[in-house]
Amino acid sequence: MTGSTKYIFVTGGVTSSLGKGIVSASLAKLLQARGFTVTIQKLDPYINIDPGTLNPYEHGECYVTEDGAETDLDLGHYERFLDTPTSQANNVTTGRIYQSVINKERRGEYLGKTVQVIPHITDEIKRHIQALGRKGIYDFVITEVGGTVGDIESLPYVEAIRQLKWEKGRDALAIHLTLLPYLSTSGELKTKPTQHSVKELLSLGVQPDILVCRTEHPMQKGMKEKIALFCNVDQRAVIESADASTIYDVPLLMQQEELDKVVLEKLGITRYPEADLDRWRDFLRRFKEPRQTVLIGLVGKYVELHDAYKSIKEALDHGGAENETRVELRWVHSEKLTAKNVARHLEGLHGILVAPGFGSRGIEGKIEAVKYARGHGVPFLGICLGMQCAVIEFARNVLGHAEANSTEMDPDTQWPVISMMEEQKAKVDMGGTMRLGSYPCRLVEGTLAAQAYGRTSIKERHRHRYEFNNAFIEEFRKAGMIAAGMNPQAKLVEVVELQGHPWFVGVQYHPEYKSTVARPHPLFVHFVQASLAHAARTAQPEAAKA
Ligand code: GLN
Repeated sequence: MTGSTKYIFVTGGVTSSLGKGIVSASLAKLLQARGFTVTIQKLDPYINIDPGTLNPYEHGECYVTEDGAETDLDLGHYERFLDTPTSQANNVTTGRIYQSVINKERRGEYLGKTVQVIPHITDEIKRHIQALGRKGIYDFVITEVGGTVGDIESLPYVEAIRQLKWEKGRDALAIHLTLLPYLSTSGELKTKPTQHSVKELLSLGVQPDILVCRTEHPMQKGMKEKIALFCNVDQRAVIESADASTIYDVPLLMQQEELDKVVLEKLGITRYPEADLDRWRDFLRRFKEPRQTVLIGLVGKYVELHDAYKSIKEALDHGGAENETRVELRWVHSEKLTAKNVARHLEGLHGILVAPGFGSRGIEGKIEAVKYARGHGVPFLGICLGMQCAVIEFARNVLGHAEANSTEMDPDTQWPVISMMEEQKAKVDMGGTMRLGSYPCRLVEGTLAAQAYGRTSIKERHRHRYEFNNAFIEEFRKAGMIAAGMNPQAKLVEVVELQGHPWFVGVQYHPEYKSTVARPHPLFVHFVQASLAHAARTAQPEAAKA
């Protein structure tokens, strides 16, 4: 598209957790399918500089971008839907905005002026929004504001939107997402909260152009007209967003409601190609009509909160779809696993995935899970801390170093098979001080990893402080655990594999961040395949009996 970048703002009302991220990603997908270039940005109104220091119980998983930014999990949805990388510029928090304003103030850049929320904080917000547009590569920048309109902390963001809408005229558009609650006693959906939410936005000077109404039941007749009339929006611009059986249905549901067409027309774009969603539909078919099911155990310490493992869950779904297989998950709490009960908890699983994590809570349970997978020939994928547990388990139970550990868990261990990188030791700050972002890795020819990727030179994203201790590399190799992938410069071990086991792979990096609908991650595809093979192997005696 020639011409200026168009800005689309997405706010939410009535309640949080309405799925703004999915609606934003779906709209972006529809525009991308028509040949436009799109990026999505998330503005988070909290004061943390980034979610890197947040406990997963707060906002779920921390998603890591190519450039090593620790970001909101919505960026994972953006990448999974669009298959284009995001960066630090795609996630900005109030903390980051204030930090840069305060830094400028200290450098004297405000020339003695009083520094205030308006205009300085709002200007900084506007600068961050437009920074993506100024790159000159995007036809559309979709900016999603976290939280709910009316919150004190989101006020400067709404004011920045008001100003940008005013300045950009037809090049900007506001979408407001609301909820139509269902009253079972009267059997109706209610529009009043939507009306109030729009009033709240209007009181801040923003007239939404489009309303996306989340609803558990089909909208009643006349409801769109009513909302349109009370909220000053066109009837066509009242979009029904019904509950979907999978988030990957949402782009198609939004297409049926013509969300993308309404957006294009309101932005004055009248000529545009048809949407090409063939690849998307093909994925959906494989995902929704699987030919078989596989049962995988996800061992972690946050299993009661599935959002803490969002990208892993999605990557398993992608890997499953590629194999036309439904991946059923058994969430296994690592803290509850002991040598005594591990068999009961993990019995019948076709694959075991030990999740990333920090700190010692649940670590012994993870090590038990690895031992079970290793001993019972169950396909195993260990990610980051999960890989480190595999190394510790091997050192303890195969090499016979009963006290082996990571120095993260036991700083004085005599067998520090996982230890801190030298350059990390001097760092005291918790935020942004890990080995973060994309690093190259060279895979050893003939390994499971090399087979999965189909090449030996890869790049993957990292988020950790500790590493395989190379002092032990030979001892491990001789006993059957090999370094299957290494960082070519730093010689850090990135992949370990167990020889003589059907499929046992531990990766120091996070493959889950790079799995998308268009390109399911090869390690997850192969892990599901190995799990299917295990299912077939273990089912045979049953069949023979019958
Ligand atoms: N806690 C481990 C480390 O810092 C692993 C981190 C992770 O699993 N992301 O190295």
